[in-house]
Amino acid sequence: MSGAAAAGGRIVVVGSLNADLTIYCERLPQPGETVHGNGFAVNPGGKSANQAVAAGRLGGHVSLVGAVGDDPNGHMLLASVAGAGVDVGRVRTSTSQPTGVAVIAVDAGGENNIIISAGANGTLSPADVAEAADVLDGAAVVTLCLEVAMPTVLAAAKAGHDAGAKVLLNLSPYAHIPSELAGLTDVLLVNAHEAALFLGPGASVPGAGAHAAQWDAVRERFAERGIRQVLVTLGAHGSVVLDSDAPANRTVVFVEPTSVSAVDTTGAGDAFTGAVAVRLAAGDGLADAAAFASVAAALATTRKGTQAAYPEAADVERRLR
Ligand code: ADP
Repeated sequence: MSGAAAAGGRIVVVGSLNADLTIYCERLPQPGETVHGNGFAVNPGGKSANQAVAAGRLGGHVSLVGAVGDDPNGHMLLASVAGAGVDVGRVRTSTSQPTGVAVIAVDAGGENNIIISAGANGTLSPADVAEAADVLDGAAVVTLCLEVAMPTVLAAAKAGHDAGAKVLLNLSPYAHIPSELAGLTDVLLVNAHEAALFLGPGASVPGAGAHAAQWDAVRERFAERGIRQVLVTLGAHGSVVLDSDAPANRTVVFVEPTSVSAVDTTGAGDAFTGAVAVRLAAGDGLADAAAFASVAAALATTRKGTQAAYPEAADVERRLR
């Protein structure tokens, strides 16, 4: 790891902003049923906004490219993202669509149902990526997820690749990606579920406790699909770095989980992605970036909420010492 979390090169996050509308209830309703809730909250969310906030809070030099509606949810999101020091000058205000929302029901056991309405996120197009050419040109890292349209993701990956940036793709929510996008991706971030979906039937993704040889077989499957560097997150079990460009004895590196008392794991994956972006932009290798991200994501689970729960660089550094 290269010392304290310096700002490093510019990170451009291209993607989604959503207002998370959450109702807490004893149990989730069946189809056709109405149940009483026992609490309601509106919070800033959306995978890309979360990742940008995580990176900004950790000292990254971050620009977000996205779209919101001209409504209170949009204003709340812009305030939250800008409050983390992220440049929101490339977040367009749609005149035709409301801000994207995620309507979330959470039961007493923490189980949830989520419906997303893309709203303004659905208007984010390759033209918006072209408009952001000046920030993309100087980028060290471009961070993408699949909450906006595939042609937009592809255009951003191309622009990042052409600018010499590292292209990070968080394959979430899972969707089939064209081979061209796989070819433009430098680092793929997946949880175990997404890894299994990407590799398809017949590929088994080992569980926690599997040994390096089993993960090395998974690494080979990703490499056959054109992806040479992968971070697989395993929730409370930590993560695994699969690096086909590393020396033979470093192609599989386990990152131990950071032991914490988790109270809310929502958005942990986004905290992890934002932290990886910050460390790669600062010049770290993949395994060092994952070790830092493991601490950042674990700390994010110790507080309720997503963006509001993300740690600062000093919190992570303290835990790493
Ligand atoms: P996602 O939310 O995308 O499914 P994960 O649940 O795999 O992502 O979590 C992402 C990362 O967050 C993990 O790799 C780990 O580093 C950290 N993390 C998540 N849950 C915990 C936990 N209970 N304790 C410690 N770290 C955690």
